[in-house]
Amino acid sequence: MANQIYWQKEIETASREQIYAWQSERLVRTVRRVYERVPLYRERMDAAGVKPEDIRGIEDLPKLPFTQKQDLRDTYPYGMFAVPMDEVVRLHASSGTTGKQIVVGYTKHDLDIWADTCARQLCAVGAKKGDKIHISYGYGLFTGGLGLHGGAEKLGATVIPVSSGNTARQITIIEDFGSDIICCTPSYAMYIAEEMERMGVDTSRLRLRAGIFGAEPWTEEMRRQLEQKLNIKAYDIYGLTEIIGPGVAYECSEQRGMHVNEDHFIIEIINPETGEPLPEGEQGEIVFTCITKEAFPLIRFRTRDIGVISHKPCSCGRTFVRMSKPRGRTDDMIIIRGVNVFPSQVESVLLKLGFAPNYQLVVDRKGSLDTLEVKVEITNEAFDDVTTSLSNLEHKISEEIKNLLGVTAKVTLVAPNSIARSEGKAKRVIDNRKLHD
Ligand code: ADP
Ligand code: ZN
Repeated sequence: MANQIYWQKEIETASREQIYAWQSERLVRTVRRVYERVPLYRERMDAAGVKPEDIRGIEDLPKLPFTQKQDLRDTYPYGMFAVPMDEVVRLHASSGTTGKQIVVGYTKHDLDIWADTCARQLCAVGAKKGDKIHISYGYGLFTGGLGLHGGAEKLGATVIPVSSGNTARQITIIEDFGSDIICCTPSYAMYIAEEMERMGVDTSRLRLRAGIFGAEPWTEEMRRQLEQKLNIKAYDIYGLTEIIGPGVAYECSEQRGMHVNEDHFIIEIINPETGEPLPEGEQGEIVFTCITKEAFPLIRFRTRDIGVISHKPCSCGRTFVRMSKPRGRTDDMIIIRGVNVFPSQVESVLLKLGFAPNYQLVVDRKGSLDTLEVKVEITNEAFDDVTTSLSNLEHKISEEIKNLLGVTAKVTLVAPNSIARSEGKAKRVIDNRKLHD
């Protein structure tokens, strides 16, 4: 059988008219359902003077009020579920990276859709029946592990449900079981790659050929390093618990943005200050509306992720709109003396200068002045090289950060392996300013 690159070809390559028709019909249906079943939507829509009948198609979407994470917290745990609890077959929760955890639910049908969205990603990276899919995203309430698990099983591939952690064992399994594709966070992939290097594993002898890395921001530089170290092609996958989990958007062979699964989720880009929808190509906050989910269909959910969309035709043949790699959530953005800085921008500078992505940003306040310290692990080579002066290196990094990001940072080189490695999402920022508030 020739390599199948699509999971559901008719859907993934449907005409734009067809996609809008699906979206319109499903949006109308979903809005009716949530108005009837979820008090929060009824109250919000009543307050905004919008009736379900006013929503006749996708062009009416901007009439609907937004939802945000706080709404999920206010209705915790089940206040926004749109089906009776006995139809819910699975619960997941966000890891609570940015505050109190939230709970989401799935019906059987929701799980089936989710498996499709993840199977689309797997097919797009060339996975097929018989391939061994090594899943090192965490299993449990976090959506990463079980999300891709469902997709891989539905595809008919062989799942290796390793979950995260125990890195030496991960490597033995990759070698002995013959893992073809690995799924985990990019920071954990880097940790595995480093461990392989340390153990002297010859990656050219592994079967591993692709990685599906997501759940946190990562840069193109990091992609190149992972591809080279693990001898694979590295793909990006995007998702969030509130919307479904991984598989909201997926990268194809073109690797210029991720196709949004638009038959299930409508994407909008808005101005985060005014809430106005932005035209294609302008950067803003990503907003999603679920149009096929039964248990937990969020309407116009503000993700706080910053991105851009493009409808330019893609060489892979898919017609779903593409979203850029989000460079981080507005929550992760730090404001240093009025300048907005995303950790991923610092990562980009460090990797360009030849450092590994082992770094941490420490933010503090001295008097009324914000301070930023960038801790970077020195590489083994530089550590052994007695001719390079550490303070020169620190100065050079600091200068690059100033040039490219416009902020002054104190750079501190730290010993190899001294920054904690992550088995899930990396913690890049330590903000001590709150301690003084
Ligand atoms: P939590 O909110 O507890 O961290 P989630 O797993 O739901 O748990 O996190 C989803 C968030 O992770 C997204 O809103 C986004 O900020 C980030 N994310 C997910 N995938 C990617 C990706 N491929 N690139 C950048 N950020 C991502
Ligand atoms: Zn494509």
